[in-house]
Amino acid sequence: MKKDQSLSWNKAGLRRRAETVIKQRMLHRNPPLSNVSEALWLIHELQVHQLELELRNQVLQETRQQLEQRLKRYTDLYDFAPVGYATLARDGTIREINLAGATFLGLERTRLIGRRLASFISTDTSPIFNAFFDKMLVNVTKESCEVALALDGAPPCHLQLEGIGGTSGKGNGCRIAMVDISARKHMEHLAYHDALTLLPNRFLLVDRLQQAMAQVQRDNKRLAICCLDLDNFKPINDTYGHKWGDQVLIEVAQRLKECVRTGDTVARLGGDEFILLLGELTGIEECEQVIVRVLTALQAPFIVIDQPVQLKASLGITLYPDDNADPDTLLRHVDQAMYAAKQAGGHRYRWFDTGLDHRARDYRALLQEIRSGLESKEFRLYYQPKVDMRRGVVTGAEALIYWQHPQKGLLSPARFISAIDTSELACAVGQWVLNEALRQMTVWVAHGLHLPVSINLSGHYFLQADFITQLRTLLANYPTVPPDDLELEILETAILENMTEVSSLITGCQELGVSFALDDFGTGYSSLTYLKHLPVNLLKIDQSFVRDMLADADALAIVKGVIGLSAAFRCKVIAEGVETVEHGRQLLGLGCEFAQGYAIARPMLPEHIPGWVSGWASPDEWAA
Ligand code: C2E
Ligand code: MG
Ligand code: MG
Repeated sequence: MKKDQSLSWNKAGLRRRAETVIKQRMLHRNPPLSNVSEALWLIHELQVHQLELELRNQVLQETRQQLEQRLKRYTDLYDFAPVGYATLARDGTIREINLAGATFLGLERTRLIGRRLASFISTDTSPIFNAFFDKMLVNVTKESCEVALALDGAPPCHLQLEGIGGTSGKGNGCRIAMVDISARKHMEHLAYHDALTLLPNRFLLVDRLQQAMAQVQRDNKRLAICCLDLDNFKPINDTYGHKWGDQVLIEVAQRLKECVRTGDTVARLGGDEFILLLGELTGIEECEQVIVRVLTALQAPFIVIDQPVQLKASLGITLYPDDNADPDTLLRHVDQAMYAAKQAGGHRYRWFDTGLDHRARDYRALLQEIRSGLESKEFRLYYQPKVDMRRGVVTGAEALIYWQHPQKGLLSPARFISAIDTSELACAVGQWVLNEALRQMTVWVAHGLHLPVSINLSGHYFLQADFITQLRTLLANYPTVPPDDLELEILETAILENMTEVSSLITGCQELGVSFALDDFGTGYSSLTYLKHLPVNLLKIDQSFVRDMLADADALAIVKGVIGLSAAFRCKVIAEGVETVEHGRQLLGLGCEFAQGYAIARPMLPEHIPGWVSGWASPDEWAA
């Protein structure tokens, strides 16, 4: 630049001196020779400078062209980027924008310049953008937010704003990058939605449930959580194929969405199970109205291959915060209630019963307590003697499991055994009892006491596939105990549903030498045909009939009946619950010689058995 100035000064100087020489020549007509040669030199100098100037101009032009080409390459690159770039003025108007940015906003670039970017953002998200823009201007920082654009079909965008510092210390506008996040949103959608119906899946449901619960706390209303399961969906899959099954599920989802309000949620947990979250309810009635609407909506036939198909549903409902549980528990509650609706015949709804749930919780707690009691060796076997009344001899003892509870004291089996019998714990307890009884018998044998022992088996344990193997192993572990000194008692009620299986299991045990008794006989209404095929060795008349036989003719008839049956089936019979000598006398009169009951002895600890056995004498009334 400096050089150019000196050049133009020289040029002007030369021109001025050349003009002076020419003027002198014109004035004096005869200028001195030296002046002429100076003029000629000046003209030459001028030409040289002219040339130099032209050359410089050419270089400048070439540089400019190169710069322009470079700029074009940068602009092309900037337009090639899939990211939208723009600069915004302080008032939020667009100064520059690249092609991707213009495409996102849906207008030609030239028409965008000078317009406010905020006017191209959907009204839902423009407040977010405005807040971020203002913050960025004030702090001249980097900010980012996600927005939806107003243009139909435009992708959701992640905006990155970077303030450009102004002289006043405040932002002078910003640079902005707009990234299309539709792919990420799509992935998120897949992770949180059911692929078939596009309804929220379990993940999103739990999230929505948490939000709805927080909302309920804030506005003092109620939230209904409903679990819906189709009653007869499987036949649709089986009859028409899964493709049609899927179509029906999509239609079900659609109908459910039409039954609820905008803020409510319909989610699919999988299969034909859906969850509805109905928020902002004032009470039960309002909720029931929606449920009736749902049941009615599903009742309209579904068209499958041009045929109308009828669907029904069962629903379980609970109200939060009346049912003040955590999300997982609430979902479990509605599942239980839905199951109850199904068991009641389907096509109906059931409210979750908190009382029922408390009982279920107590039950689980009891099982846990029993499990740890077993580990801490809190259980003991008590033995109740069994006798032959006529001959006055002790024939054996029944092992009964007692629980020496650290807080509640000694608990009889009647207090806890029914909880175990139907649970997985039945096996662990059963194994412990069998092992403990055999161990005790080994001790007695070693001390010269030969006493057959019967133990009570839960149906659940007995029906384990490897029961016979377990029994064989246990007997092998206690070789001094003769297997025929072991008797297994099983409740008549426990075998009713599995008569054939039980029958072959009994035979398997008998092959090992172990005998079998049917306990509490008379309470199970067994069919005689079945009983005929059941190879048991002993019937134990249920104590309730024995207890009442002196006063109740029906009880007496049953006692007589069981005694008669035992003769017919050629097995022994024993009466349990013999509380008085008179009971024993009457039983002997009816032909029942074996007995167990308080009139003989109460259940006792094993260490008391030897002394009791040697000291027992039958009452005179029972002598022949
Ligand atoms: P069960 O096998 O019928 O045992 C007889 C029950 O009648 C015992 O009750 C016994 O104490 C009681 N009892 C005996 N004589 C009399 C009497 O004269 N009057 C009265 N009122 N009751 C009498 P317990 O010990 O409470 O046992 C209840 C039930 O628990 C047993 O009935 C048996 O079914 C079950 N049980 C006991 N131990 C076990 C076990 O180790 N495993 C399994 N699975 N069940 C067991
Ligand atoms: Mg028994
Ligand atoms: Mg019994």
